Amino acid sequence: MINVTKTYLPPFEEYQEYIKGIWERNQLTNNGPLVRELEKQIQDFLGVKHCLFVSNGTIAIQIALKVLNITKEVITTPFSYCATSHSVVWEGCKPVFADILTSDLCIDPQKVEEAITADTQAILATHVYGNPCEIYELQRIADKHNIKLIYDAAHAFGVNVDGKSLLSFGDISTCSFHATKVFHTIEGGAILTNNDDYAWLIDRYRSFGHIGDEYLTIGINGKNSEFHAAMGLVNLPKVGEIIQARKEIFEIYDSILNWEKLGRPELRLATEKNYAYYPIFLESEKVLLRVKAALGEHQIVPRRYFYPSLSTLKFVTEESNCPISDDFALRALALPLYYDLAHDDARRIAEIVNQHL
Ligand SMILES: *Cc1c(COP(=O)(O)O)cnc(C)c1O
Repeated sequence: MINVTKTYLPPFEEYQEYIKGIWERNQLTNNGPLVRELEKQIQDFLGVKHCLFVSNGTIAIQIALKVLNITKEVITTPFSYCATSHSVVWEGCKPVFADILTSDLCIDPQKVEEAITADTQAILATHVYGNPCEIYELQRIADKHNIKLIYDAAHAFGVNVDGKSLLSFGDISTCSFHATKVFHTIEGGAILTNNDDYAWLIDRYRSFGHIGDEYLTIGINGKNSEFHAAMGLVNLPKVGEIIQARKEIFEIYDSILNWEKLGRPELRLATEKNYAYYPIFLESEKVLLRVKAALGEHQIVPRRYFYPSLSTLKFVTEESNCPISDDFALRALALPLYYDLAHDDARRIAEIVNQHL
């Protein structure tokens, strides 16, 4: 079976080396040496001042909202994984959906500006498929209206714009290091910021709000373990290789798929990509289901991504007007893409897709 994604596993011995050290030290969690080492290496890799390793990419968004004191309206994208809007609701805030751009399916800055009210406190935008949002325009809007800007950068590890990591933009960027992502720590995530005060508070919040006997604030348990950090330390030096392998598969799809009948994201900013996903936009949901079924007959499992449009989930919001997101969510399909997908398989997948358009 060929699934939409496959977790990268490093050579077992490399992981084992780190695990031996954990046994020797007998420290498994609570901000251990491997966690601190991973944070430092990620800061250097990304060129971001603070990286705080947490248990997953969802708690990262929740803590980001908490640190920025967001309690009212958050303008966010309907075209993302449900963790984005669920975090907003879980934190007791109100998600206000602004529709997306047809070019790259990231949030439309003009729609963001139109959605601003006296209660708006933050913008929470996703770099969809690792493609950058309109980062400069969103920052301008945030500054003009004195609101915070948070990026759900779960897809964006390894992406650079104008020579800088995409995770260095906004007040805070969050990332997921889940096993399905380009860089992973099994489960895990990070909160990235250049602001010292935020970093200090994030560190408190992820660890119950206290340091030893000093109880400073409320907090949650968002810590991550030495075992997860070890996986990150083994995988981080391989990110370049993994991205290169993905790029080759990406180019095979690019060259074979029938673009007369298919759409794909168009980028406007100077971007070094991470090739995190290979989305195609079919003509209609009917064609999508036909292509998905045809691939399924060959044990090939693509993923509807993102689906559904978050604006259609009644437990998230009763009110929304996002026709572009609603439309793309019905006809966007991510094709299999992972570091060791055989090139012949990629060709075969592209040909099956073409035959059923
Ligand atoms: C994976 C993902 C998340 C959630 O991350 P977890 O680590 O699984 O909690 C959030 N947002 C987006 C866009 C994602 O792709």
